[in-house]
Amino acid sequence: MVYAFGGGHAEGAATMVELLGGKGANLAEMARLGLPVPPGFTITTEVCADYYEGGRRIPGSLKPEVEAALAAVGRITGATFGDAANPLLVSVRSGSRASMPGMMDTILNLGLNDLTVNGLAARSGDGRFAYDSYRRFIQMYGDVVMGLDHSVFEDILDSFKNLNGFHSDTDLGAQEWREIIDEYKAVIERELGQPFPQDTAAQLWGAIAAVFNSWHNPRANTYRRLHDIPDDWGTAVTVQAMVFGNMGETSATGVAFTRNPSTGAPELYGEYLLNAQGEDVVAGIRTPQPLTEAARIASHSESPSLEGQMPQTFGELARVFQQLERHYRDMQDIEFTIQDGRLWLLQTRSGKRSAEAAMRIAVDMAGEGIISRDEAVLRVDAGGIDQLLHPTLDPSAKKLVVTTGLPASPGAASGEIVLTPEDAQAMKAKGRDVILVRVETSPEDIHGMYSAVGVLTARGGMTSHAAVVARGMGRPCVTGAGAIRIDLKNETVTMGREVLRRGDVITIDGTSGQVMKGKAPMRQPQLSPSFATIMQWADHARRMGVRANADTPRDCQQAREFGAEGIGLCRTEHMFFEEDRILAMREMICAPDEAGRRKALARILPMQRADFEALFDIMEGFPVTIRLLDPPLHEFMPREETEQKAVAKALGITLEQLRSKLVELAEQNPMLGFRGCRLAIRYPEIAEMQARAILEAALASSARQGKPVVPEIMIPLVAFRTEFDLVAAAIRGTAAEIARETGTAPQFHLGTMIELPRACLRAGDLTAGEDGAEFFSFGTNDLTQTCLGLSRDDAAPLLSGYAHGGVFAVDPFASIDRDGVGELVRIGVERGRAARPGLKIGICGEHGGEPASVAFFDEAGLDYVSCSPFRVPIARLAAAQAAIRAAARSSAAAEA
Ligand code: PEP
Ligand code: MG
Repeated sequence: MVYAFGGGHAEGAATMVELLGGKGANLAEMARLGLPVPPGFTITTEVCADYYEGGRRIPGSLKPEVEAALAAVGRITGATFGDAANPLLVSVRSGSRASMPGMMDTILNLGLNDLTVNGLAARSGDGRFAYDSYRRFIQMYGDVVMGLDHSVFEDILDSFKNLNGFHSDTDLGAQEWREIIDEYKAVIERELGQPFPQDTAAQLWGAIAAVFNSWHNPRANTYRRLHDIPDDWGTAVTVQAMVFGNMGETSATGVAFTRNPSTGAPELYGEYLLNAQGEDVVAGIRTPQPLTEAARIASHSESPSLEGQMPQTFGELARVFQQLERHYRDMQDIEFTIQDGRLWLLQTRSGKRSAEAAMRIAVDMAGEGIISRDEAVLRVDAGGIDQLLHPTLDPSAKKLVVTTGLPASPGAASGEIVLTPEDAQAMKAKGRDVILVRVETSPEDIHGMYSAVGVLTARGGMTSHAAVVARGMGRPCVTGAGAIRIDLKNETVTMGREVLRRGDVITIDGTSGQVMKGKAPMRQPQLSPSFATIMQWADHARRMGVRANADTPRDCQQAREFGAEGIGLCRTEHMFFEEDRILAMREMICAPDEAGRRKALARILPMQRADFEALFDIMEGFPVTIRLLDPPLHEFMPREETEQKAVAKALGITLEQLRSKLVELAEQNPMLGFRGCRLAIRYPEIAEMQARAILEAALASSARQGKPVVPEIMIPLVAFRTEFDLVAAAIRGTAAEIARETGTAPQFHLGTMIELPRACLRAGDLTAGEDGAEFFSFGTNDLTQTCLGLSRDDAAPLLSGYAHGGVFAVDPFASIDRDGVGELVRIGVERGRAARPGLKIGICGEHGGEPASVAFFDEAGLDYVSCSPFRVPIARLAAAQAAIRAAARSSAAAEA
């Protein structure tokens, strides 16, 4: 139940994260490495599970183990827990398998009471320090364990300072703190009807239970839901001897990253506070100072850097950082305390980083020989690079800068000001972009930060809660914008001379720290050399191809810039919607007979042919898959009465005639109705026109390029082989006509989308024989809605209820439902290829750009994924990661 560490030994190790949590495992590992770690012990996550199983009761057998471990800590430190003359003080901290920064509770300075505080004062020779520590403990314990709101204590302290003319906490001496302690104890007794516990053992057990309880506090529950962390993992509890960063001017506490977590630059990065305890840095109450001289100069700070203030300790710190980074083979995020000139390490973990930094660090570490190229590819979160692919602030545009803060998380965002997390969430639900503006954020704000497109705070440094969380979420963030004043009551924010209101639009630039009024112009992202390197390594490692869903020349251009190797889906419907052709389309729909339809289609043909020529030219021989018209026809018809009148007039029919056509086209379930190949079967002339446009364009473009352009023509929403054959006949007939007319037989491939469960089950029918489908492309948007019987257009409100109810962990329209839809995909692949060996298979639903789904498609043996142009780099990386992991699995299996 208990694993001890300290004094150069440890019972645990870094590999025991599941049992000891990240913090406990890494403290054990650092102790093993002989690094200066205050001794302590970790109570396992299994005890947390027992605690909850027993109805929130601490198992009786834990007691002797904890007592023995505590005695051992006392032997190493030479102090005794609860001893009036030489008291051992401890911290009690949470720590789960996955990092959940700030979500659970921590208690410091435990073991102080009315007697031991005097012992601490006598031994440290510093009464101010001792009584300050005691009042901090009462405050924390009173809040976290006893449940008295921390503002009660803050009010007492504030009014004491006001009454007695003190400005800062550090102005208070031993006597003042003693008076405050008396007031704190009195308020606890008054409000809770019980005294502050003087028995140090009772304090300890109270704290341990409180940390276990905090696993299920609302913010931890929210965080786990957002990050897919299972509820049953539980938290470990680490009890550790206190070291003090608040013992005067030779003491300090800080947080550091072994590389820059914003840019990835190989430089020591972090902040510290002289004469302070750890929570002061993270809480952003005092503004911390930079660690290095270089950072101090860069930030024009007057206050000394740690390097300047304590050069020797800084040197030691730098050496330890390098050792830890090499040992863990990753960038580390480290908490340390300096007590009277002596360095102590309190935590190390892999540091959260921006997407840009992740790329740079991975490439640099591969260059330094710390990790392999494949590992470098695995180190970058594929979903996270999304933030690099989106616009940044246009540097040449005129900007109305109203204030500046710290560049805490890169990228720019514009949105309406909101002042509370609840408001952020509500506005997001209405589809609005909001910037959450706070004095500082705390873990209670997490859902608001998630809902916002950017975060701005008045206080806090680069390692404040807001900065760390925003970087992890990929939200642009500016912190410590000291010139802003927030008035919650009147819902205003003063920024310099500007007074802005809730709902006013601002732009924040997390790369420069600037805050601008209004919506500032953005520009396309500039991709870094590290980005290009990672992509190159990824392309080398992946098995699957990556194509784009693109319908316009602009999309195609973008797709190629992002490395698409073809078009996996060109939806042709937009080609009917454009202004110069929608009328012809409507005329076709309203025509009373085939001749009328053909006449209208003939007007669309040259325009559509020109569109396809442009696509083929841009794609320069890369494959292009074009899908025949798919949506229900009523989507092309006018909805508003005024428009209906105009259309009727233009078509030379009466409004009544138009309306009766609309009634005829109306359907109860249009997504399951007259759409897809059903259109081409009823009106073969549509398929013939489209086939002609595609094939003639291919001939023209291949003549221009001097190499064959072989389009892939795709038939949507097929369920039966006969459907495929009927439409195929129209296309093949058109190709034969063109061959007769031009003397050149156009080359093309004919395939189907797989969007219906029946198509998966009967995939063998669809591909069998010479004339069967030559390729498949899974349309997982429709396949998901038809497999689950859940309308893709109406699912959102239902899904959010389902997510809370635990039916779906993730939205099945965003990330593939492996067990259900995925099984249909596997069946389709197997049966399709059984009937036609080597059948080429892709996927072009939204899932094609989502990393977890891409991994599934790799496992299922697909040849390529196709996604929107902006997600092409994500898909390339995700496909590489899937291939690398698959190779690792199969070599592990071979070894076994
Ligand atoms: C699909 O259904 O997955 C698909 C790509 O087609 P659409 O989204 O156009 O229906
Ligand atoms: Mg579809």
